[in-house]
Amino acid sequence: MSNSDSSFDCIFCKIVKGKLPCFKVYEDKSFLAFLNVNPVNKGHVLIIPKKHYETILDMPNDALSQIILIVKKITKAILRIFNIDSCNIDINLGKEAGQIVPHVHIHIIPRFSSDEFKEWPTKQIPEEEMQEIANKIKNSL
Ligand code: 5GP
Ligand code: ZN
Repeated sequence: MSNSDSSFDCIFCKIVKGKLPCFKVYEDKSFLAFLNVNPVNKGHVLIIPKKHYETILDMPNDALSQIILIVKKITKAILRIFNIDSCNIDINLGKEAGQIVPHVHIHIIPRFSSDEFKEWPTKQIPEEEMQEIANKIKNSL
Protein backbone atom coordinates (compact mmCIF):
# COMPACT_ATOMS: atom_id res chain seq x y z
CA MET A 1 0.00 0.00 0.00
CA SER A 2 1.38 3.44 -0.88
CA ASN A 3 1.18 6.56 1.26
CA SER A 4 -1.19 8.07 -1.28
CA ASP A 5 -3.77 5.36 -0.53
CA SER A 6 -6.65 7.10 1.29
CA SER A 7 -6.91 4.19 3.72
CA PHE A 8 -3.25 4.45 4.77
CA ASP A 9 -3.82 6.75 7.76
CA CYS A 10 -7.41 5.73 8.37
CA ILE A 11 -8.13 4.84 12.01
CA PHE A 12 -10.91 2.43 11.07
CA CYS A 13 -8.75 0.65 8.46
CA LYS A 14 -6.17 0.19 11.22
CA ILE A 15 -8.86 -1.35 13.44
CA VAL A 16 -9.87 -3.67 10.57
CA LYS A 17 -6.24 -4.76 10.16
CA GLY A 18 -5.84 -5.31 13.92
CA LYS A 19 -3.24 -2.54 14.20
CA LEU A 20 -5.47 -0.71 16.68
CA PRO A 21 -7.57 -2.41 19.36
CA CYS A 22 -11.34 -2.25 19.66
CA PHE A 23 -14.18 -3.75 21.67
CA LYS A 24 -15.54 -5.93 18.88
CA VAL A 25 -19.22 -6.84 18.84
CA TYR A 26 -19.62 -8.32 15.34
CA GLU A 27 -17.45 -9.45 12.46
CA ASP A 28 -17.94 -11.18 9.15
CA LYS A 29 -16.05 -11.27 5.84
CA SER A 30 -16.99 -7.72 4.86
CA PHE A 31 -18.14 -5.85 7.97
CA LEU A 32 -17.02 -5.08 11.50
CA ALA A 33 -18.83 -3.54 14.47
CA PHE A 34 -17.26 -2.29 17.69
CA LEU A 35 -17.95 0.01 20.62
CA ASN A 36 -17.33 3.71 20.09
CA VAL A 37 -14.30 4.66 22.18
CA ASN A 38 -16.04 7.96 23.08
CA PRO A 39 -19.65 6.86 23.42
CA VAL A 40 -22.60 9.26 23.53
CA ASN A 41 -24.20 6.62 25.76
CA LYS A 42 -23.14 3.19 26.99
CA GLY A 43 -23.48 0.61 24.23
CA HIS A 44 -22.77 3.12 21.42
CA VAL A 45 -21.76 0.90 18.49
CA LEU A 46 -20.16 1.72 15.14
CA ILE A 47 -20.69 -0.56 12.14
CA ILE A 48 -18.22 -0.27 9.27
CA PRO A 49 -17.45 -1.96 5.97
CA LYS A 50 -13.98 -3.50 6.11
CA LYS A 51 -13.22 -1.94 2.75
CA HIS A 52 -12.38 1.75 2.89
CA TYR A 53 -15.14 3.98 1.47
CA GLU A 54 -15.38 7.59 2.57
CA THR A 55 -19.18 7.83 2.53
CA ILE A 56 -22.17 5.64 1.75
CA LEU A 57 -22.33 7.36 -1.66
CA ASP A 58 -19.10 5.55 -2.56
CA MET A 59 -20.38 2.12 -1.50
CA PRO A 60 -21.75 -0.41 -3.97
CA ASN A 61 -25.50 -0.93 -3.51
CA ASP A 62 -25.17 -4.57 -2.45
CA ALA A 63 -22.77 -3.68 0.38
CA LEU A 64 -25.11 -0.89 1.43
CA SER A 65 -28.05 -3.29 1.53
CA GLN A 66 -26.04 -5.75 3.60
CA ILE A 67 -24.82 -3.25 6.19
CA ILE A 68 -28.35 -2.15 7.11
CA LEU A 69 -29.24 -5.77 7.92
CA ILE A 70 -26.29 -5.90 10.33
CA VAL A 71 -27.45 -2.62 11.86
CA LYS A 72 -30.86 -4.23 12.39
CA LYS A 73 -29.37 -7.32 14.02
CA ILE A 74 -27.14 -5.34 16.40
CA THR A 75 -29.88 -2.82 17.22
CA LYS A 76 -32.19 -5.66 18.28
CA ALA A 77 -29.47 -7.04 20.56
CA ILE A 78 -28.79 -3.60 22.09
CA LEU A 79 -32.48 -2.95 22.82
CA ARG A 80 -32.69 -6.41 24.39
CA ILE A 81 -29.62 -6.23 26.61
CA PHE A 82 -30.41 -2.76 27.98
CA ASN A 83 -34.15 -3.45 28.10
CA ILE A 84 -34.90 -0.22 26.19
CA ASP A 85 -37.16 0.72 23.28
CA SER A 86 -35.12 3.47 21.61
CA CYS A 87 -31.89 4.25 19.90
CA ASN A 88 -30.62 6.71 17.31
CA ILE A 89 -29.24 5.20 14.11
CA ASP A 90 -27.08 7.84 12.53
CA ILE A 91 -24.79 8.42 9.57
CA ASN A 92 -22.77 11.63 9.54
CA LEU A 93 -22.00 12.28 5.90
CA GLY A 94 -19.42 15.03 5.36
CA LYS A 95 -17.56 17.45 7.60
CA GLU A 96 -20.43 19.89 8.17
CA ALA A 97 -22.62 16.97 9.24
CA GLY A 98 -20.06 16.00 11.87
CA GLN A 99 -18.18 13.26 10.01
CA ILE A 100 -14.76 13.14 11.59
CA VAL A 101 -13.57 9.71 10.45
CA PRO A 102 -13.58 9.51 6.63
CA HIS A 103 -14.47 5.80 6.54
CA VAL A 104 -18.17 4.87 6.35
CA HIS A 105 -19.66 4.12 9.75
CA ILE A 106 -23.17 3.84 11.10
CA HIS A 107 -23.76 4.83 14.71
CA ILE A 108 -26.21 2.97 16.93
CA ILE A 109 -26.75 5.07 20.05
CA PRO A 110 -28.92 3.54 22.77
CA ARG A 111 -31.36 6.06 24.30
CA PHE A 112 -32.58 5.96 27.87
CA SER A 113 -35.46 7.80 29.58
CA SER A 114 -32.82 9.39 31.83
CA ASP A 115 -30.95 10.98 28.89
CA GLU A 116 -30.21 14.61 29.56
CA PHE A 117 -29.58 15.59 25.96
CA LYS A 118 -32.23 16.84 23.57
CA GLU A 119 -33.01 16.28 19.93
CA TRP A 120 -31.92 18.51 17.05
CA PRO A 121 -33.21 22.09 17.01
CA THR A 122 -35.76 22.85 14.30
CA LYS A 123 -36.25 25.77 11.90
CA GLN A 124 -39.31 27.46 10.41
CA ILE A 125 -39.00 27.55 6.59
CA PRO A 126 -41.61 29.53 4.61
CA GLU A 127 -44.13 27.32 2.77
CA GLU A 128 -43.08 28.64 -0.64
CA GLU A 129 -39.45 27.70 -0.01
CA MET A 130 -40.48 24.26 1.33
CA GLN A 131 -42.31 23.60 -1.96
CA GLU A 132 -39.37 24.84 -4.00
CA ILE A 133 -36.91 22.62 -2.12
CA ALA A 134 -39.17 19.56 -2.41
CA ASN A 135 -39.51 20.15 -6.16
CA LYS A 136 -35.77 20.59 -6.62
CA ILE A 137 -34.98 17.34 -4.80
CA LYS A 138 -37.74 15.42 -6.60
CA ASN A 139 -36.61 16.66 -10.00
CA SER A 140 -32.95 15.84 -9.49
CA LEU A 141 -33.40 12.21 -8.39
P1 5GP B 1 -18.18 10.67 13.18
O1 5GP B 1 -18.25 11.97 13.92
O2 5GP B 1 -17.09 10.64 12.14
O3 5GP B 1 -19.52 10.26 12.62
O4 5GP B 1 -17.87 9.57 14.26
C1 5GP B 1 -16.64 8.96 14.42
C2 5GP B 1 -16.70 8.26 15.75
O5 5GP B 1 -15.59 7.39 15.82
C3 5GP B 1 -16.60 9.20 16.94
O6 5GP B 1 -17.81 9.13 17.68
C4 5GP B 1 -15.40 8.70 17.72
O7 5GP B 1 -15.65 8.64 19.10
C5 5GP B 1 -15.16 7.32 17.16
N1 5GP B 1 -13.77 6.95 17.11
C6 5GP B 1 -12.73 7.71 16.67
N2 5GP B 1 -11.57 7.05 16.80
C7 5GP B 1 -11.88 5.83 17.31
C8 5GP B 1 -11.09 4.70 17.65
O8 5GP B 1 -9.87 4.65 17.51
N3 5GP B 1 -11.76 3.63 18.17
C9 5GP B 1 -13.12 3.62 18.34
N4 5GP B 1 -13.68 2.52 18.84
N5 5GP B 1 -13.89 4.67 18.01
C10 5GP B 1 -13.27 5.77 17.51
ZN1 ZN C 1 -10.55 3.36 6.22
